[in-house]
Amino acid sequence: MHLGFLGAAGEVTGSCTLVESGDTRFLVDCGMFQGGPEARAKNLRTLNFGFDVRQIDFVLLTHAHIDHSGLLPRLAMLGYKGPIYATPATIDLLDVLLPDSAHIQEKEAEWQLRHRHRRGKDERGIPAPLYTVAQALAALQLLRPVSFGVSLAPASNVKVQFHDAGHILGSAWLEITVSGEGRPRKLVFSGDLGMPERPVLQNPEKPPAEADVLVVESTYGDRLHRSLAETEDEIVDAFERTRAAGGNLIIPSFAVGRTQEIIYLLADLVRRKRLFPLKVYVDSPMANAATRITLAHPELLDAETRELIAWQQKHPDQMKLEFVADVEASNALNEIRSGAVIISASGMCEAGRIKYHLRENLPRSECSVLIAGFQAAGTLGRRLVDGARLVHIFSQPVPVRARIYTVGGLSAHADQAALLDWLGGFHSAPRTCFVVHGEAGASATFAQAINERFGWPDVRLPAHGESFAR
Ligand SMILES: [Zn+2]
Repeated sequence: MHLGFLGAAGEVTGSCTLVESGDTRFLVDCGMFQGGPEARAKNLRTLNFGFDVRQIDFVLLTHAHIDHSGLLPRLAMLGYKGPIYATPATIDLLDVLLPDSAHIQEKEAEWQLRHRHRRGKDERGIPAPLYTVAQALAALQLLRPVSFGVSLAPASNVKVQFHDAGHILGSAWLEITVSGEGRPRKLVFSGDLGMPERPVLQNPEKPPAEADVLVVESTYGDRLHRSLAETEDEIVDAFERTRAAGGNLIIPSFAVGRTQEIIYLLADLVRRKRLFPLKVYVDSPMANAATRITLAHPELLDAETRELIAWQQKHPDQMKLEFVADVEASNALNEIRSGAVIISASGMCEAGRIKYHLRENLPRSECSVLIAGFQAAGTLGRRLVDGARLVHIFSQPVPVRARIYTVGGLSAHADQAALLDWLGGFHSAPRTCFVVHGEAGASATFAQAINERFGWPDVRLPAHGESFAR
């Protein structure tokens, strides 16, 4: 058996592993590289295997995030026609996320074209979009649903089970048995693992007692998250101060996962009377779709969240939720001077309706911005977190007089302690453990922590493109 690490090795995006055993070839995830000047080149290179993509038998997808799923349309565009197995909720999310990703690629290519025309140049050398909306829709046709715990046999020598990873709706870790060459081998892919005891989703399911090969994520392998109690205190503080000052509270948020987490965290704080009754506007078509999909899968939610949804529906006066659909209604929110709570995307303030809300509210000292997600270097969100007094939105200078709150404890990823606890579920050491999906430093620190805690004999940090026989 061979494993080839085609992405998320020494970095956090581009998850894609090629597994070959006998005549069977499959991929675990097929993610897009995001951020940084080299991302496009890497995205173009990733699916050049040295053989035809039609020789891939099937694809297993851990979850819907674009850094795990975003190259599926490209795989289909290059001629892949086989099945892509994923959970039903992952498929629902991909119906929204993949066409949106394609739309962004198309817009980017159009912008490049206009930019060149303005400078009097012709169209030669303009990069085509990675894929189009039509190609994304074609890839969606290849998706096949597999529920948690069901035993799937995608090839005569391969068995697979998807287990709840508690990271985003429908997210899975995979238990794969490959037989044929000598004794059967068990592979476990963690996918992305969620933080236990956080709102909305169930805790990650425990891993099996043993495995031959484990591929584990390490996004936060070098740090610990703040506790939920501290996070709640920070949120209450931000709401109280903004209410006293008479301004609005703006929350930039990732549409999938984080928005739903914030909605139910706020509902819980209102129910416990830590916050006054609220009216919350969710102003992002993608966040609205993701919330609708979340509500359509109550079986994936934890008991507290199901109870909270029932409470919120019974007490609409306590926590009014308004999903803003059209652009006029979104613009109308800019007229509100006081008391509005607006959750909007994108999460790092780089695109989408959040930019309008920031333009209106940042110059007003009575308003606040609550930042509850990771902000990559170079983004508008990061500049706000870093205390910029002046930012540029739509090329216009905008003074920052609003108060910026950074709330640290919400993360869709397990921290180091939670990752180690999950690994503690193995009764014996996996023969080989590959640490992936982390910045180089985080992965190395996590590999060392595994050695210190468990003393596993073979813990490796695969390099991009590296291949291993096991
Ligand atoms: Zn993820």
